[in-house]
Amino acid sequence: MIAHHAFAGNPIISDKRGNLSIADLSEAESAGSLRVLPLLEGKPLISSVVLPQGGQIWRLAWQNFGVCHNALLSSQQAVNTFLAEQQNLDEEEKRISIDFSHGILSHDRLVYLGDRDGVTFCALDVSPYPIFSGTADKIAQDAKWLQGLSKAWELPSSDARVGFVDLRLLMTGTDWSDKPTLEELSIAGHARAMLDWHTQSRFCGRCGNTTVLKEAGRRRQCVNELCKKKLYPRLDPVVIMLVIDKERDRVVLGRQSRFVPRMWSCLAGFIEPGESLEEAVRRETREEVGIEVGEILYHSSQPWPVGPSSMSCQLMVGFFAFATTFDIRVDKKELEEAKWHHREQVKKALVFNEYKNQQQASALKVHQACSGEERRRGSSIEARVDAGELAPMFVPGPYAIAHHLISTWATNGPEGLLSKV
Ligand SMILES: [Zn+2]
Repeated sequence: MIAHHAFAGNPIISDKRGNLSIADLSEAESAGSLRVLPLLEGKPLISSVVLPQGGQIWRLAWQNFGVCHNALLSSQQAVNTFLAEQQNLDEEEKRISIDFSHGILSHDRLVYLGDRDGVTFCALDVSPYPIFSGTADKIAQDAKWLQGLSKAWELPSSDARVGFVDLRLLMTGTDWSDKPTLEELSIAGHARAMLDWHTQSRFCGRCGNTTVLKEAGRRRQCVNELCKKKLYPRLDPVVIMLVIDKERDRVVLGRQSRFVPRMWSCLAGFIEPGESLEEAVRRETREEVGIEVGEILYHSSQPWPVGPSSMSCQLMVGFFAFATTFDIRVDKKELEEAKWHHREQVKKALVFNEYKNQQQASALKVHQACSGEERRRGSSIEARVDAGELAPMFVPGPYAIAHHLISTWATNGPEGLLSKV
């Protein structure tokens, strides 16, 4: 039984959300009770330490607003110096290239996340702005600014490493039994979802004017006095379903071409406007594998802030779907392959050691990313694949709702399929 899915169970989302303003955040900053999480292009700033017993553990690297401000100013200076030295750029390229300071001084990129024990927590987007293009992009990647930005932060302890790390890597590198780190992951996911939404909502969809952050980041508003459209953070709901053949005791699992080798998972798809959740389950199953579904049973849902970059946060809504027809006809545009899998096959695919190995390999990569080390080629996981020690197939790890739909079915009879989350 699990308490929450990964990215749910956020401990700092609080009831005070309705009353806070940027002025309140400034007051908290003056009182020393404001903690700021910097994110660079969706990657949270984290610290990682090596544990005495072996392995690594990561934590969010909360900062003071003042430290963030100084880090950004010094990065801007480094960029300006760098650009001044570039003889081959014209003035326009220099002008559009990199601007860290936009909005920082007016707190336009500071977003309230929540409260706990008298401390107010915020996320700050420290990505350069506007977004790079062309030559400027190349400069940004090559320049020294990022190194400078990564070194400017306060460390929680002298043996900690700090850096901006991809949220998906943090997710796969988090020990499923480690509740405090799972809570950190849920905060990072919320922060990323909010900042991504702000980045994508800078212009009004109705009149095309710019929008500004309001109510400590809980919404935005168009600056055009005739329009004043209010924008609220959006979610993109997705149905994810395990299609079950009750009689023959088997389920449909599919493979998308982007999956790593040997991985199989549930079917899934976006809900369309004007459609109920149940209708979406039936339509997606019919479209992807040509199977008709009768009874549908809700299991649980999971916030998923690590989907495609154009979506700030998906909400995965998980179901068991009982098939009434059984011939699979795969839509090759959606799936590479889909098959019925019997219970014993699926049980073998839920190999605990494999998840543990993957998690530990990812935790090491997280630490290396903080240390600025190159990722090593050929991890121990890949080495074991060559040695033929792994199961012929596996399903996504415990961080994904698909894992819990599949494992709930594999380890329970029909009466055990109701949600345990
Ligand atoms: Zn407008």
